[in-house]
Amino acid sequence: MLPFGLKHWAQHASLSRIADPQFEVIQMVLSDRIHTYGQHLLRRYGERVHKIALDAGLTCPNRDGSKGIGGCTFCNNDSFSPNGRTPPTLHEQLESGRRAIRRRTRATKFIAYFQAYTNTYAKVEQLRAMYEEVLQEPDVIGLSIGTRPDCVPSEVLDLLDEFRARGLEVVLELGLQSAFDETLRRVNRGHGLAEYVATATAARQRGIPVCAHLIVGLPGEDEAHYHATLDTVLDIGVDGLKLHPLHVVKHTLLAQEWRRGKYTPLDREEYIRIAADLIERTPEHIVYHRVTGTSPKEILLAPEWSSQKWNILNGIERELRQRDSRQGAATTRCGGADGCGSGRLQPPLTPGAFAEMCRRRHLAGSTLIFKELRHVA
Ligand code: SF4
Repeated sequence: MLPFGLKHWAQHASLSRIADPQFEVIQMVLSDRIHTYGQHLLRRYGERVHKIALDAGLTCPNRDGSKGIGGCTFCNNDSFSPNGRTPPTLHEQLESGRRAIRRRTRATKFIAYFQAYTNTYAKVEQLRAMYEEVLQEPDVIGLSIGTRPDCVPSEVLDLLDEFRARGLEVVLELGLQSAFDETLRRVNRGHGLAEYVATATAARQRGIPVCAHLIVGLPGEDEAHYHATLDTVLDIGVDGLKLHPLHVVKHTLLAQEWRRGKYTPLDREEYIRIAADLIERTPEHIVYHRVTGTSPKEILLAPEWSSQKWNILNGIERELRQRDSRQGAATTRCGGADGCGSGRLQPPLTPGAFAEMCRRRHLAGSTLIFKELRHVA
């Protein structure tokens, strides 16, 4: 799950466009080079589907001692004050999200995005009631559930699978952030890679799509870590990705480290270049739900540039354009339409030729290529 306070790009996909028509333009331009969630849904439903971010009033097990104490070092502590948060009902939140979206669009379909905190951290019957409540609304066509990988028992996966079997759109959003246990320990994440592997694998075995959240710029990490994290997630198997730069926000341990000069955030150009590298390295069939994120300006300390969302999205688009590149251009993996993702590029094939070969073989329904590619992997 994401630290409280971080506004997702995906959330902006539904809400910020109301105030900022630039969103429509940049999203269209980005979609030429990145397989975005917006485009994915548009293709699937023949119309734009909007996410509405919800706060179900749940909390986080990395705070209350059941999984850890103190929370992630980058997570805003104030948001956990016992009486600091009384969200409106889910119906009210949906209604206000809908109203905001309909000021600018004729949207008729929505996905209920359980965003805040750990949205599987409750008894399964409570979760069922919570999810069913939003699915009662006739224009809600599915659920996106943000959570931690160590907080999704098999009965919750069974529940999500039930919704999926009813033909509803379901995405399990797992906050991994880094594939390096050392980094996860350093930021007091309270889980390691193993929990992510177990949950992502179990979810995908049931056919539940998984979207992994990754942070660029965690303490002690560099480009080799970001690439290795992406490769690990791709090796495990994933359906969607969210990227954002690490933000230093008020009332966090990270803010103390930053003030003491023990943590230096990435600069804007670095982030744009790294995000473009990761996008190029990602096979085309994987859906990007977000390529940056912002924190509310009242709590954001650094990096300042991260509040300029359009600027970053434009920067990523410009970077890819200048490289004459796009998602998957530098992948060494199978780029087939059904995304087996298991193949690895080997010389003398170029990445482009490799991707094309995979695509043709997949379209032809061949499975032989998977074996061949696995063999060379
Ligand atoms: S998992 Fe970490 S980032 Fe997410 S809410 Fe809990 S403490 Fe905050």
